[in-house]
Amino acid sequence: MTEMETQVDVRTLAERLAAVRARIEAACRRSGRSPEEVTLIGVTKTFPVEVVEAAFSEGLRDFGENKVQELVAKAGRMPGRHEGGAVRWHMIGHLQRNKAKEVVAHADLFHALDRLRLAEALERRAEAAGRVLPCLVQVNVSGEATKFGLEPDVVHPFLDEMARFEHLRIEGLMTLAAPADHPEDVRPQFRLLRRIMETYDAPAHPTVRLRALSMGMSGDFEVAVEEGATHVRVGSAIFGPRRAAAASRDHRG
Ligand SMILES: *Cc1c(COP(=O)(O)O)cnc(C)c1O
Repeated sequence: MTEMETQVDVRTLAERLAAVRARIEAACRRSGRSPEEVTLIGVTKTFPVEVVEAAFSEGLRDFGENKVQELVAKAGRMPGRHEGGAVRWHMIGHLQRNKAKEVVAHADLFHALDRLRLAEALERRAEAAGRVLPCLVQVNVSGEATKFGLEPDVVHPFLDEMARFEHLRIEGLMTLAAPADHPEDVRPQFRLLRRIMETYDAPAHPTVRLRALSMGMSGDFEVAVEEGATHVRVGSAIFGPRRAAAASRDHRG
């Protein structure tokens, strides 16, 4: 990285963060929701830990990473709640089973649970670590073949299966909408995710209690809030553009 890129422009960051917060509040007002229902996650992927520290000093407490090695590095410097720290770390990216241990070690909430074998690996690691890992199930609501996540029609049976994992707590659903020219275009996708949650007849089991909807990014978080998002994952609107090489790897684990 060049010197310029490693410098944190605190003023710009503060202004962008304030603007995003104001837009979330406005979306809440429009939809009759309380801003306390919405957790803003600052997605710091590709940015150095100094950026996390700068956002922390502006009051941000929730941070998201999509790669395990970045999560490990940044949580090492700024520990999450689960490790006795002051922030919450959200692992929002696709996860390989052989990295389950690191996520169990550092994540406060895992957003991308999308297959049984991964649940088994996380369960084993969480049991060994003596913790319960809060998780969201990732759903592919956009129909795009390239997206990770379960197809909508298999989400309910998958949730039923999750009930047997005593060290995972399934708290809700997560999705990435399709890239769109207009945020309005993805409203039906967010609505679908909410419907999948609302129509789930939860088994009488304490480990599956759906209440969280992680949806909405820089381009579409206001529509997501209007459709019931409890967690929005916002990167570039707060931290500025990511470098192209890093951005092209964004959706890999
Ligand atoms: C990068 C990323 C985001 C944030 O993207 P922006 O468009 O920069 O807000 C949100 N969710 C996931 C899963 C991501 O990988």
